[in-house]
Amino acid sequence: MPLEFPEHPVSAIAAAVTTAPAARTVRRVRKRAISAPSMSDFVQVGQSVRINVHYDFQVHNYEFEKRNGRCQADLMPSNNVWLRDTPGALIPLFREHRDGLTKSETMRLTGLSRTAVSQRIDALVEAGYLTSGSTTAGDVRGRPAERFTMHVRRGVLLVADTGATEVRTALCDPLGAVLEEQCGPLDITEGPEQILSLIAARFDDLLQRAGVAHDRVLRIGLSLPGPVDHDRQRVVRPPIMTGWDDYDIAERLARDFACPVTVEKDANAMALGEYRQVYPHTPALVFVKIGTGVGTGLIIHGDIYRGADGAAGDIGHVPLHGQPTDKAPQCRCGNDGCVEAYAGGWALARDLSAAGFPARSVNEFIDHVRSGNRMALQLVKQAATIVGTAVSDIVNMVNPRIVVFGGQLAELDDILLATARNVIYGRSLPLATRNLRIAATTLSAPGVHGLAQLLADQVNSAAAVDAILTKTAPRE
Ligand SMILES: [Zn+2]
Repeated sequence: MPLEFPEHPVSAIAAAVTTAPAARTVRRVRKRAISAPSMSDFVQVGQSVRINVHYDFQVHNYEFEKRNGRCQADLMPSNNVWLRDTPGALIPLFREHRDGLTKSETMRLTGLSRTAVSQRIDALVEAGYLTSGSTTAGDVRGRPAERFTMHVRRGVLLVADTGATEVRTALCDPLGAVLEEQCGPLDITEGPEQILSLIAARFDDLLQRAGVAHDRVLRIGLSLPGPVDHDRQRVVRPPIMTGWDDYDIAERLARDFACPVTVEKDANAMALGEYRQVYPHTPALVFVKIGTGVGTGLIIHGDIYRGADGAAGDIGHVPLHGQPTDKAPQCRCGNDGCVEAYAGGWALARDLSAAGFPARSVNEFIDHVRSGNRMALQLVKQAATIVGTAVSDIVNMVNPRIVVFGGQLAELDDILLATARNVIYGRSLPLATRNLRIAATTLSAPGVHGLAQLLADQVNSAAAVDAILTKTAPRE
């Protein structure tokens, strides 16, 4: 339920903090822990203001919005970082404050004592998570104060954004910034052994070029064009990926790399990349990948929404209503008349070839469109209508603020997006489209960024950091 607060942001924060549901359950209440929001905590989003309130080891994320003439705030529960009473709990704070924090600033933001802050920061520096950078004259008494920032040379992350026909691999720093990247062709139907060997070789190549040893790899992330069981980190009955069903991906990669592996659905990784890079404050975003296949990824209140089993948003294999042809075409998944069987890149290449213009892949199909082939143009418009119809169902159900199109076919921005946009606006409820934005991705590799961010979240989570600290230096 939205809470009502005074209009002035500062009084609104004070009111928000004192009436925050969590404030009633915290062990200790530290009044001095309530800090004035710094610039990074204070973000203007359209007509609303988003504020992170650091309060008694927790960061409360509020969105203030003027509704019906009154200033109201929603507590955004999924964005709450629950700070633990440990050194690792400071890491999210340092990730948020990219320019670093002094010990005094850390005290102010957390409400911790100078001794506690010193102990924790020292432990984090010793374990390589933080590095002490420049000194600033920030201290009240004029003494130079040491600034601490996240240590970006602590190790590296490796990611492979894997599509049906190409893979984009990258070497990233522990905060998810891409350092080296490469892209090459692949055929996902060759099976896991072959593909994972190829990816491992690409990783080796990246490490060699950057002069980084294998034992510096903190984590590996892989996205795949199929349904992923998030708990087991395996692909489940993928329509096109022969041999991948229930294959132990982590076990295969462990032959070459002694680090944890994360597996994610491609559209989810792309959605997260788009959200973090381009729309970091939107309450709900849908990413529609239209390449060889069709799939979507959902970001709700900052997190990937996977559903109960990881199948959320899989519109590619939903049977299409009101089919445009008499006989429903067979889909790669074995069923007839799926959205993808009409509108996926492979289906478009199939239909164009049948019409006498050979196209073996989605890229060859796109070449025909670009050279002005009328049949190809017509097929794109038909596909855009079908995908737009499927996406409008998601728009009505999820009410996203932004729908982003990506994948090879999204490059046909003017034709595909214009048609899909008309269909989505025409088929969605007025309230759902009032503030809806539909755009093509502006990123060259949203999947790579998304995977890198996902891994950065994992290696820098309070729990992961504390686990490393207790293993390497049992101090407290
Ligand atoms: Zn299907």
